[in-house]
Amino acid sequence: MRKGRAMTARELINKGAQELAERGVADAETDSRLLFCHLAGVSRSRLFMEYPRMMTDTEIAAYKALIRRRGTGEPLQYIVGETEFMGLRFRVDSRVLIPRPETELLVEKALELLKGFSTKSEQGSPSASGELVAATRQNPLGSRQPVRILDCCCGSGAIGLSVAALAEMPVRVSCSDISPDALEVARRNAGELGFFGSFGDGRRGSVEFLCGSFLEPAAGRQFDMILCNPPYIQDGVIPGLQREVREHEPLLALAGGADGMDSYREMIPRLTEHLTDGGVAMFEIGHDQGEAVANMFAETGEFGPAQVMRDLAGRNRIVWTRRRYPQSAV
Ligand code: GLN
Repeated sequence: MRKGRAMTARELINKGAQELAERGVADAETDSRLLFCHLAGVSRSRLFMEYPRMMTDTEIAAYKALIRRRGTGEPLQYIVGETEFMGLRFRVDSRVLIPRPETELLVEKALELLKGFSTKSEQGSPSASGELVAATRQNPLGSRQPVRILDCCCGSGAIGLSVAALAEMPVRVSCSDISPDALEVARRNAGELGFFGSFGDGRRGSVEFLCGSFLEPAAGRQFDMILCNPPYIQDGVIPGLQREVREHEPLLALAGGADGMDSYREMIPRLTEHLTDGGVAMFEIGHDQGEAVANMFAETGEFGPAQVMRDLAGRNRIVWTRRRYPQSAV
């Protein structure tokens, strides 16, 4: 085999960027650098210190292999095996959808609404010492329990685990998915974020994992909050998606039927079986689905007015509402 020319890290990265650009990768320069950082185990901010270093043949071969993968359209996050969401690190691979930045809106809104849960009960408000007292919701029997949250179609666990990690009061988060493979990824993420096994009694959020389609794993159970980023892409739109998404991310996490609405049709009419009075239901939606999903909630007659919220790009991204409290008899 012909031996390659000796090369510095900088030259190698430039070659990588050129190859990615030729293969139609949009962020060729950034990705060529990030793949090098991943390989060399250096942070982005220290990369420049590597530039003059001479590369060994082994390093060159390993880097070229990563560039080849990215060049065929494999997402950067799958190659490096992780992504950031809500400031937390999530492992990802081809078994799960890569958490999108716009989904952070759903988590932020859920965290904001959770604060409302805590102020509703005196036990949830700060004590004289300024410390948040545990137990934040009061069930009809008067016993105080953590807020119960379902992350339905959890994938990597990005939504449910972020809420569990960032909530300011004790929560019990059930993460469910139809894919046992996805749940394996979510479990690993839970472990790395410091959540172990099933529900514990710690002050910090606790998590559990359930396998099944849509609301099936919630059978016979009620939650105070149901969060869900279901598959919602129209079947006809899928062939036109970026190759990174179309060829590498799980179709199961994307395809929402002919009009993209199958998941909502399946779940919204059944939500009240699983939501406490005043409980919150929140869905991620496609930019053109806000009105239709809000109407579905209205048709049940069991929810308050549905709110449609826009993401940072100004596109409709989430719909949320609360289950109505029963009318008090006069
Ligand atoms: N927002 C994702 C995308 O555009 C789709 C996520 C979903 O279907 N839940 O690729």
